[in-house]
Amino acid sequence: MDCIFCQIAEHKLPANIVYEDDDVVAFHDINPQAPVHVLVIPRKKHIAKIADMTAEDQALVGKVIYIGKQVAEQLGIAEDGFRLVFNNGRHGGQHVYHIHLHVLGGRPMTWPPG
Ligand code: 5GP
Ligand code: ZN
Repeated sequence: MDCIFCQIAEHKLPANIVYEDDDVVAFHDINPQAPVHVLVIPRKKHIAKIADMTAEDQALVGKVIYIGKQVAEQLGIAEDGFRLVFNNGRHGGQHVYHIHLHVLGGRPMTWPPG
């Protein structure tokens, strides 16, 4: 499949990986929007967007969020706080159609988002 995040998950494209196991991969965003900007993706299942989730994906996406929190601790941004984001679809600002959790931290975030 012509999906860059599937290819990163299969180690066919390079990425700066900070955590991986059988279910998920976490790697630094190529165009960071904060001092720490990591993406967490499911490894074996290509789900294009959160809107395509089915009930059977709940545990996998729950693990993506859990690993986002673990990575925040690993990279030292957990104590000050961080932001977790799933962009979904065109109005949600999604550009890569393989679900990914943005883990952003290392500076104060603003609200509302743009
Ligand atoms: P989206 O806009 O879909 O929510 O987020 C896609 C993210 O993937 C962007 O933050 C973008 O910088 C990042 N990205 C796109 N292509 C690559 C890539 O090849 N490698 C890495 N590490 N990040 C990428
Ligand atoms: Zn994919």
